[in-house]
Amino acid sequence: MAESESGRASLTFDSPLARELADLSSRRRALDTVRVDFTGEPRVLTVSNQKGGVGKTTTTVNLAASLASLGARVLVIDLDPQGNASTALGVPHSADIPSVYDVLIDQFPLADIVQVSPESPNLLCAPSTIHLAGAEIELVSQVAREHRLRTAVEEYLASSADRIDFVLIDCPPSLGLLTINAFTAAHELLIPIQCEYYALEGLSQLLGSVSMIQKHLNERLHLSTILLTMYDGRTRLAQQVADEVRSHFPNEVLRTVIPRSVRVSEAPSFGQTVIAYDGQSAGAVAYREAAVEIAQRASAATHENKGEA
Ligand code: ATP
Ligand code: MG
Repeated sequence: MAESESGRASLTFDSPLARELADLSSRRRALDTVRVDFTGEPRVLTVSNQKGGVGKTTTTVNLAASLASLGARVLVIDLDPQGNASTALGVPHSADIPSVYDVLIDQFPLADIVQVSPESPNLLCAPSTIHLAGAEIELVSQVAREHRLRTAVEEYLASSADRIDFVLIDCPPSLGLLTINAFTAAHELLIPIQCEYYALEGLSQLLGSVSMIQKHLNERLHLSTILLTMYDGRTRLAQQVADEVRSHFPNEVLRTVIPRSVRVSEAPSFGQTVIAYDGQSAGAVAYREAAVEIAQRASAATHENKGEA
Protein backbone atom coordinates (compact mmCIF):
# COMPACT_ATOMS: atom_id res chain seq x y z
CA MET A 1 0.00 0.00 0.00
CA ALA A 2 1.19 3.51 -0.80
CA GLU A 3 -0.07 6.80 0.63
CA SER A 4 -1.58 9.06 -2.04
CA GLU A 5 -1.29 12.85 -1.86
CA SER A 6 -4.80 13.10 -0.46
CA GLY A 7 -3.66 10.96 2.42
CA ARG A 8 -5.84 8.00 1.43
CA ALA A 9 -4.20 4.65 1.03
CA SER A 10 -4.05 3.53 -2.61
CA LEU A 11 -3.26 0.11 -4.03
CA THR A 12 0.04 -0.33 -5.81
CA PHE A 13 -1.18 -2.75 -8.46
CA ASP A 14 1.78 -4.96 -8.96
CA SER A 15 1.40 -8.67 -9.66
CA PRO A 16 2.63 -11.00 -12.40
CA LEU A 17 -0.80 -10.74 -14.09
CA ALA A 18 -0.81 -6.93 -13.89
CA ARG A 19 2.70 -6.83 -15.37
CA GLU A 20 1.61 -9.22 -18.16
CA LEU A 21 -1.39 -7.01 -19.01
CA ALA A 22 0.71 -3.84 -19.01
CA ASP A 23 3.22 -5.59 -21.25
CA LEU A 24 0.43 -6.73 -23.63
CA SER A 25 -0.99 -3.23 -23.95
CA SER A 26 2.41 -1.74 -24.73
CA ARG A 27 2.95 -4.47 -27.35
CA ARG A 28 -0.46 -3.61 -28.90
CA ARG A 29 0.49 0.05 -29.07
CA ALA A 30 3.83 -0.81 -30.69
CA LEU A 31 2.02 -2.91 -33.33
CA ASP A 32 -0.31 -0.05 -34.16
CA THR A 33 2.65 2.09 -35.25
CA VAL A 34 4.51 -0.56 -37.27
CA ARG A 35 4.89 0.11 -41.00
CA VAL A 36 6.27 -2.57 -43.31
CA ASP A 37 7.43 -2.19 -46.89
CA PHE A 38 6.14 -4.85 -49.27
CA THR A 39 7.91 -3.85 -52.45
CA GLY A 40 10.14 -6.94 -52.74
CA GLU A 41 9.68 -10.11 -54.78
CA PRO A 42 6.77 -12.39 -53.83
CA ARG A 43 7.82 -14.88 -51.14
CA VAL A 44 6.54 -18.44 -51.22
CA LEU A 45 6.64 -20.18 -47.84
CA THR A 46 5.61 -23.72 -47.06
CA VAL A 47 4.43 -24.32 -43.51
CA SER A 48 5.43 -27.91 -42.86
CA ASN A 49 6.04 -30.44 -40.12
CA GLN A 50 5.09 -34.08 -40.56
CA LYS A 51 4.11 -34.19 -36.89
CA GLY A 52 0.36 -33.74 -36.52
CA GLY A 53 -1.27 -31.01 -34.46
CA VAL A 54 1.78 -28.78 -33.97
CA GLY A 55 0.03 -25.63 -35.21
CA LYS A 56 0.75 -25.64 -38.97
CA THR A 57 -2.76 -24.57 -39.99
CA THR A 58 -3.20 -22.15 -37.11
CA THR A 59 0.14 -20.57 -37.99
CA THR A 60 -0.61 -20.40 -41.74
CA VAL A 61 -3.97 -18.66 -41.43
CA ASN A 62 -3.06 -16.30 -38.60
CA LEU A 63 0.21 -15.21 -40.17
CA ALA A 64 -1.63 -14.74 -43.46
CA ALA A 65 -4.31 -12.59 -41.82
CA SER A 66 -1.67 -10.61 -39.91
CA LEU A 67 0.35 -9.96 -43.06
CA ALA A 68 -2.85 -8.93 -44.88
CA SER A 69 -3.66 -6.49 -42.07
CA LEU A 70 -0.19 -4.97 -42.53
CA GLY A 71 -1.08 -4.27 -46.17
CA ALA A 72 0.38 -7.34 -47.90
CA ARG A 73 -1.63 -9.34 -50.43
CA VAL A 74 -1.48 -12.95 -49.33
CA LEU A 75 -2.53 -16.22 -50.96
CA VAL A 76 -3.01 -19.24 -48.72
CA ILE A 77 -2.86 -22.59 -50.52
CA ASP A 78 -4.67 -25.25 -48.53
CA LEU A 79 -2.81 -28.44 -49.38
CA ASP A 80 -4.35 -30.54 -46.62
CA PRO A 81 -7.40 -32.72 -47.49
CA GLN A 82 -8.73 -31.89 -44.00
CA GLY A 83 -9.41 -28.36 -45.36
CA ASN A 84 -8.86 -26.70 -41.98
CA ALA A 85 -7.17 -23.62 -43.45
CA SER A 86 -10.11 -23.08 -45.85
CA THR A 87 -12.52 -23.35 -42.90
CA ALA A 88 -10.55 -20.90 -40.77
CA LEU A 89 -10.50 -18.39 -43.64
CA GLY A 90 -14.27 -18.66 -44.06
CA VAL A 91 -13.94 -20.00 -47.61
CA PRO A 92 -16.46 -22.59 -48.93
CA HIS A 93 -14.81 -25.92 -49.69
CA SER A 94 -17.55 -28.51 -50.17
CA ALA A 95 -16.91 -31.36 -52.62
CA ASP A 96 -18.44 -29.49 -55.62
CA ILE A 97 -16.13 -26.44 -55.29
CA PRO A 98 -13.13 -26.24 -57.67
CA SER A 99 -10.06 -26.77 -55.50
CA VAL A 100 -6.35 -27.50 -55.30
CA TYR A 101 -7.24 -31.03 -56.41
CA ASP A 102 -8.22 -29.67 -59.85
CA VAL A 103 -4.97 -27.69 -60.02
CA LEU A 104 -2.81 -30.72 -59.21
CA ILE A 105 -4.63 -33.39 -61.20
CA ASP A 106 -6.36 -31.55 -64.06
CA GLN A 107 -3.92 -28.65 -64.24
CA PHE A 108 -6.52 -25.92 -63.74
CA PRO A 109 -4.91 -22.48 -63.39
CA LEU A 110 -4.78 -21.37 -59.72
CA ALA A 111 -6.64 -18.21 -60.71
CA ASP A 112 -9.71 -20.38 -61.53
CA ILE A 113 -10.03 -21.73 -57.98
CA VAL A 114 -8.79 -18.85 -55.78
CA GLN A 115 -11.42 -17.25 -53.53
CA VAL A 116 -11.26 -14.06 -51.50
CA SER A 117 -11.65 -14.57 -47.74
CA PRO A 118 -14.55 -12.57 -46.27
CA GLU A 119 -12.02 -11.35 -43.72
CA SER A 120 -10.05 -9.09 -46.04
CA PRO A 121 -9.78 -8.29 -49.75
CA ASN A 122 -6.02 -8.82 -49.28
CA LEU A 123 -6.49 -12.39 -48.11
CA LEU A 124 -6.94 -15.06 -50.79
CA CYS A 125 -7.35 -18.79 -50.45
CA ALA A 126 -6.97 -21.72 -52.82
CA PRO A 127 -9.27 -24.16 -51.01
CA SER A 128 -8.86 -27.84 -50.43
CA THR A 129 -11.73 -30.30 -50.77
CA ILE A 130 -12.09 -33.90 -49.71
CA HIS A 131 -11.03 -34.94 -53.24
CA LEU A 132 -7.48 -33.97 -52.34
CA ALA A 133 -7.32 -37.11 -50.16
CA GLY A 134 -7.10 -39.14 -53.37
CA ALA A 135 -4.57 -36.87 -55.07
CA GLU A 136 -1.61 -38.42 -53.24
CA ILE A 137 -2.31 -41.75 -55.02
CA GLU A 138 -3.50 -40.26 -58.34
CA LEU A 139 -0.37 -38.14 -58.66
CA VAL A 140 1.92 -41.18 -58.54
CA SER A 141 1.25 -42.06 -62.18
CA GLN A 142 1.26 -38.48 -63.50
CA VAL A 143 3.94 -36.70 -65.52
CA ALA A 144 5.93 -34.03 -63.58
CA ARG A 145 4.06 -35.11 -60.47
CA GLU A 146 6.37 -33.20 -58.07
CA HIS A 147 6.20 -29.96 -60.08
CA ARG A 148 2.45 -29.54 -60.49
CA LEU A 149 2.03 -26.98 -57.72
CA ARG A 150 5.19 -25.08 -58.60
CA THR A 151 4.11 -24.63 -62.20
CA ALA A 152 0.68 -23.41 -61.06
CA VAL A 153 2.15 -20.94 -58.53
CA GLU A 154 4.68 -19.56 -61.02
CA GLU A 155 1.99 -19.05 -63.67
CA TYR A 156 -0.30 -17.41 -61.13
CA LEU A 157 2.38 -15.02 -59.87
CA ALA A 158 3.35 -14.12 -63.42
CA SER A 159 -0.20 -13.54 -64.64
CA SER A 160 -2.07 -12.19 -61.61
CA ALA A 161 -3.37 -8.71 -62.32
CA ASP A 162 -2.79 -7.66 -58.71
CA ARG A 163 0.57 -8.09 -57.03
CA ILE A 164 0.94 -10.92 -54.53
CA ASP A 165 3.42 -10.46 -51.68
CA PHE A 166 3.18 -13.80 -49.90
CA VAL A 167 2.07 -17.31 -50.77
CA LEU A 168 1.69 -19.52 -47.68
CA ILE A 169 1.16 -23.24 -48.20
CA ASP A 170 -0.48 -25.26 -45.44
CA CYS A 171 0.79 -28.84 -45.59
CA PRO A 172 -0.76 -32.08 -44.33
CA PRO A 173 1.04 -33.96 -41.52
CA SER A 174 3.03 -36.29 -43.78
CA LEU A 175 5.98 -36.25 -46.14
CA GLY A 176 4.05 -37.61 -49.13
CA LEU A 177 3.60 -36.21 -52.65
CA LEU A 178 1.44 -33.29 -51.51
CA THR A 179 4.18 -32.04 -49.17
CA ILE A 180 6.81 -32.72 -51.86
CA ASN A 181 4.78 -30.50 -54.23
CA ALA A 182 4.85 -27.78 -51.57
CA PHE A 183 8.63 -28.16 -51.08
CA THR A 184 9.16 -27.97 -54.82
CA ALA A 185 7.01 -24.84 -55.16
CA ALA A 186 8.37 -22.91 -52.16
CA HIS A 187 11.38 -20.69 -51.61
CA GLU A 188 11.23 -20.93 -47.84
CA LEU A 189 10.33 -23.50 -45.25
CA LEU A 190 8.59 -22.37 -42.07
CA ILE A 191 8.46 -25.03 -39.34
CA PRO A 192 6.07 -24.55 -36.44
CA ILE A 193 7.33 -26.38 -33.36
CA GLN A 194 5.05 -27.12 -30.45
CA CYS A 195 6.74 -26.47 -27.10
CA GLU A 196 6.10 -29.96 -25.79
CA TYR A 197 8.05 -33.12 -25.11
CA TYR A 198 9.18 -34.84 -28.37
CA ALA A 199 9.17 -31.45 -30.11
CA LEU A 200 12.43 -32.15 -31.93
CA GLU A 201 11.61 -35.74 -32.76
CA GLY A 202 11.17 -36.17 -36.49
CA LEU A 203 12.90 -32.87 -37.24
CA SER A 204 16.00 -34.58 -38.66
CA GLN A 205 13.77 -36.63 -40.99
CA LEU A 206 12.05 -33.42 -42.12
CA LEU A 207 15.37 -31.65 -42.72
CA GLY A 208 16.68 -34.78 -44.51
CA SER A 209 13.74 -34.57 -46.92
CA VAL A 210 14.45 -30.88 -47.46
CA SER A 211 18.08 -31.64 -48.44
CA MET A 212 16.87 -34.26 -50.91
CA ILE A 213 14.50 -31.71 -52.42
CA GLN A 214 17.28 -29.11 -52.60
CA LYS A 215 19.52 -31.57 -54.40
CA HIS A 216 17.00 -32.95 -56.88
CA LEU A 217 13.98 -30.70 -57.26
CA ASN A 218 14.38 -27.18 -55.86
CA GLU A 219 17.74 -25.74 -54.93
CA ARG A 220 16.11 -22.48 -53.83
CA LEU A 221 14.29 -24.09 -50.87
CA HIS A 222 15.76 -23.26 -47.46
CA LEU A 223 14.71 -23.33 -43.84
CA SER A 224 14.15 -19.65 -43.15
CA THR A 225 11.85 -19.61 -40.12
CA ILE A 226 10.99 -21.62 -37.02
CA LEU A 227 8.06 -20.52 -34.89
CA LEU A 228 7.53 -21.83 -31.37
CA THR A 229 3.83 -22.47 -30.83
CA MET A 230 1.43 -23.33 -27.98
CA TYR A 231 3.94 -22.06 -25.43
CA ASP A 232 2.83 -22.36 -21.84
CA GLY A 233 5.08 -20.07 -19.80
CA ARG A 234 4.00 -21.71 -16.55
CA THR A 235 5.79 -24.96 -17.36
CA ARG A 236 9.51 -25.53 -17.14
CA LEU A 237 9.24 -28.02 -20.03
CA ALA A 238 8.09 -25.33 -22.48
CA GLN A 239 11.05 -23.12 -21.50
CA GLN A 240 13.46 -26.05 -21.88
CA VAL A 241 12.09 -26.97 -25.31
CA ALA A 242 12.30 -23.33 -26.45
CA ASP A 243 15.92 -23.06 -25.22
CA GLU A 244 16.89 -26.30 -26.94
CA VAL A 245 15.35 -25.30 -30.28
CA ARG A 246 17.02 -21.87 -30.09
CA SER A 247 20.41 -23.45 -29.36
CA HIS A 248 20.13 -25.63 -32.50
CA PHE A 249 18.66 -22.93 -34.77
CA PRO A 250 19.77 -19.53 -33.41
CA ASN A 251 19.12 -17.68 -36.68
CA GLU A 252 15.89 -19.30 -37.76
CA VAL A 253 13.79 -19.18 -34.57
CA LEU A 254 11.65 -16.04 -34.37
CA ARG A 255 11.93 -13.94 -31.18
CA THR A 256 8.15 -14.03 -30.95
CA VAL A 257 6.69 -17.10 -29.30
CA ILE A 258 2.98 -18.02 -29.72
CA PRO A 259 1.34 -18.64 -26.36
CA ARG A 260 -1.25 -21.31 -25.74
CA SER A 261 -4.49 -19.34 -25.94
CA VAL A 262 -8.16 -20.26 -25.82
CA ARG A 263 -9.02 -17.44 -28.28
CA VAL A 264 -6.65 -18.97 -30.87
CA SER A 265 -8.33 -22.37 -30.59
CA GLU A 266 -11.88 -20.93 -30.63
CA ALA A 267 -11.51 -18.76 -33.74
CA PRO A 268 -11.80 -21.53 -36.42
CA SER A 269 -15.21 -22.62 -35.15
CA PHE A 270 -16.44 -19.14 -36.18
CA GLY A 271 -14.79 -19.50 -39.60
CA GLN A 272 -12.34 -16.79 -38.60
CA THR A 273 -8.69 -16.26 -37.86
CA VAL A 274 -7.88 -15.01 -34.37
CA ILE A 275 -6.91 -11.68 -35.95
CA ALA A 276 -10.56 -11.10 -36.93
CA TYR A 277 -12.06 -12.96 -33.97
CA ASP A 278 -10.15 -11.14 -31.23
CA GLY A 279 -7.27 -9.14 -32.68
CA GLN A 280 -6.23 -7.68 -29.33
CA SER A 281 -5.94 -11.04 -27.52
CA ALA A 282 -2.53 -12.34 -26.48
CA GLY A 283 -2.50 -15.01 -29.21
CA ALA A 284 -3.45 -12.52 -31.94
CA VAL A 285 -0.85 -10.00 -30.76
CA ALA A 286 1.82 -12.73 -30.88
CA TYR A 287 0.86 -13.76 -34.43
CA ARG A 288 0.86 -10.10 -35.52
CA GLU A 289 4.35 -9.67 -34.04
CA ALA A 290 5.56 -12.86 -35.74
CA ALA A 291 4.24 -11.52 -39.06
CA VAL A 292 6.12 -8.25 -38.58
CA GLU A 293 9.33 -10.17 -37.87
CA ILE A 294 8.88 -12.30 -41.00
CA ALA A 295 8.06 -9.27 -43.15
CA GLN A 296 11.00 -7.28 -41.81
CA ARG A 297 13.33 -10.16 -42.55
CA ALA A 298 11.98 -9.98 -46.09
CA SER A 299 12.69 -6.33 -46.55
CA ALA A 300 16.17 -6.76 -45.00
CA ALA A 301 16.88 -9.59 -47.47
CA THR A 302 15.55 -7.54 -50.40
CA HIS A 303 17.70 -4.56 -49.48
CA GLU A 304 20.78 -6.76 -49.09
CA ASN A 305 20.12 -8.18 -52.57
CA LYS A 306 19.95 -4.64 -53.90
CA GLY A 307 23.18 -3.78 -52.05
CA GLU A 308 21.36 -1.28 -49.83
CA ALA A 309 21.94 -3.00 -46.48
P1 ATP B 1 -2.52 -31.23 -38.56
O1 ATP B 1 -1.21 -31.92 -38.49
O2 ATP B 1 -3.69 -32.12 -38.18
O3 ATP B 1 -2.75 -30.51 -39.86
P2 ATP B 1 -1.71 -28.72 -37.45
O4 ATP B 1 -0.24 -28.94 -37.31
O5 ATP B 1 -2.19 -27.98 -38.62
O6 ATP B 1 -2.49 -30.12 -37.38
P3 ATP B 1 -3.43 -27.06 -35.90
O7 ATP B 1 -4.65 -27.66 -36.51
O8 ATP B 1 -3.04 -25.70 -36.31
O9 ATP B 1 -2.21 -28.05 -36.10
O10 ATP B 1 -3.51 -27.08 -34.31
C1 ATP B 1 -3.83 -28.27 -33.61
C2 ATP B 1 -4.82 -27.94 -32.50
O11 ATP B 1 -4.21 -27.07 -31.56
C3 ATP B 1 -6.07 -27.22 -33.00
O12 ATP B 1 -7.17 -27.66 -32.27
C4 ATP B 1 -5.77 -25.75 -32.70
O13 ATP B 1 -6.95 -25.00 -32.47
C5 ATP B 1 -4.93 -25.86 -31.44
N1 ATP B 1 -3.98 -24.74 -31.31
C6 ATP B 1 -3.05 -24.38 -32.20
N2 ATP B 1 -2.33 -23.32 -31.75
C7 ATP B 1 -2.85 -23.02 -30.52
C8 ATP B 1 -2.56 -22.03 -29.54
N3 ATP B 1 -1.59 -21.12 -29.72
N4 ATP B 1 -3.29 -22.02 -28.40
C9 ATP B 1 -4.28 -22.95 -28.22
N5 ATP B 1 -4.60 -23.91 -29.09
C10 ATP B 1 -3.90 -23.95 -30.24
MG1 MG C 1 -3.31 -28.62 -40.29
